[in-house]
Amino acid sequence: MGKKGIKERTLLILKPDAVERGLVGEIIGRVERMGFKIVGAKFVKPTEDLGEKHYPNTDEWKKSVGERTIEDCEKYGIDLMENMGTTDPIEIGNLVKKWNVDYLCSGPVFAFVLEGFNAIERLRSLVGNTVPTKANPGTIRGDFSLDSAILANMNGRAISNLVHASGNAEEASYEIDLWFRKEELVN
Ligand code: GDP
Repeated sequence: MGKKGIKERTLLILKPDAVERGLVGEIIGRVERMGFKIVGAKFVKPTEDLGEKHYPNTDEWKKSVGERTIEDCEKYGIDLMENMGTTDPIEIGNLVKKWNVDYLCSGPVFAFVLEGFNAIERLRSLVGNTVPTKANPGTIRGDFSLDSAILANMNGRAISNLVHASGNAEEASYEIDLWFRKEELVN
């Protein structure tokens, strides 16, 4: 497992908005159609502790989210201080991290471990860009969500983008171990 291009495992979460909107069957249908094998599945209401552990707590992640927000505000002529209450990228990252945890823990979610060749990259391409307004048609986020970072920031919440998919091999391994016990996965 793990090497790019060979059989990999990745984590897919259908976030509370996907469950609430009745998109579980639609999303899993697309996943199955692409040939992913389901090796683990559970329906849970995440605890705050799980949500905290799921999202990175690194300054690197916070800085990149913060810098993206600063760029977006400049691009759309939005007052950063008025919108976010701070101009410090790390502080912005901290806010977004809190919104993410609140969002993930706001209702029940479906978590899946999927297996397949080049699964991590293929699932990310099925899911589409983090920001739905930037996601291509045909992707899950592009087809079913209209949310943008600016709108989410203005409302003090995470971007409602329906799903989470592990970003790389390191994240996949960490996240699968966080969400599933070994014996909950089939071989
Ligand atoms: P992902 O791997 O595609 O989910 O993207 P990230 O790891 O960068 O971000 C995690 C989650 O945080 C995303 O799925 C969004 O729900 C949310 N998010 C990311 N960037 C922003 C942002 O700039 N503003 C807000 N409000 N939420 C964000």
